Amino acid sequence: MSLADPLFAASNQIRYTTYLGRKYVYMRDVAAYYGMKYFIWQKTCGIYNKYSKIIFHYESREGSVNGFTVHFLYAPVFQNNEAFISEKDFLLFIDPILRNRAIPSHKMKTIMLDPGHGAHDKGGTGSIYQEKNLNLQIALKVRDILTSKGYLVYMTRNRDVFLSLEQRIAEAKKCRADIFISIHANIAGKSAINGIETFCVTPPGAPSTNDAKPVYKRERGNYFDVNNARLSYEIHKAAVSRTKSYDRGLKRARFYVIRNAPCPAVLLETGFLSNPKEERALGRQSYQSTLANAIAEGIINYHSALRNR
Ligand SMILES: [Zn+2]
Repeated sequence: MSLADPLFAASNQIRYTTYLGRKYVYMRDVAAYYGMKYFIWQKTCGIYNKYSKIIFHYESREGSVNGFTVHFLYAPVFQNNEAFISEKDFLLFIDPILRNRAIPSHKMKTIMLDPGHGAHDKGGTGSIYQEKNLNLQIALKVRDILTSKGYLVYMTRNRDVFLSLEQRIAEAKKCRADIFISIHANIAGKSAINGIETFCVTPPGAPSTNDAKPVYKRERGNYFDVNNARLSYEIHKAAVSRTKSYDRGLKRARFYVIRNAPCPAVLLETGFLSNPKEERALGRQSYQSTLANAIAEGIINYHSALRNR
């Protein structure tokens, strides 16, 4: 770590401790570092100021950032009336959200949209719609919005054709995509389940949201862990606030396309085809436009964070 490294300042001011073989930082010090207030109250701890609020819960990986649900890599640790959060959550997630300068800058011109599935690969099937068609309809709307804003937009597919996951990544490489956005819809066994969830790749040495075991292998997508955090947060925030859908949270997974992307990448699950109300909404032009505008807004907000470093 060098003096030029923005993390150097943090490493100097923030004390850490080791717990279960992992590094944890003092939440009190994290708050001081950002000039924020710190609290620990019963089974909740957090940092906040006028602009931002980050909440953790005892023995839970689920918390929130500015009111949006976030699945952290590790639960906080409470000891002697002091709260600690994992160093990975701090450096790879909280810091790039609170501080634009923490995000590595990159070109932001070429956007690759990836509507999931296609042709015989239908994705989830609801009682009216097939996922592959909804993904494409939404992605086409995102393309039009971003093109009108001056971005160069490519799509892994712009019609009903089959593409392997490998081909999707090859397309992103060929077009020299600056970011990669995969669009999907969900399906669940219970029809009551609904809402939006957004994924970025799990950092090496951490467990995915639906898993407890860490995976140590570093994948291509992990070169962009810090960017992935901010990009996925901006898209999740815009999608949940624009649609008013149930917020299932920003999650971590090692899905093929986000794990292998040659650039910052996000996979958005727009809603559940197994929920009748959400399925009908996803089929509506107006709701698709709302979603498309939200995705575009998230991308534009990420871009402006990069510009205002
Ligand atoms: Zn899918």
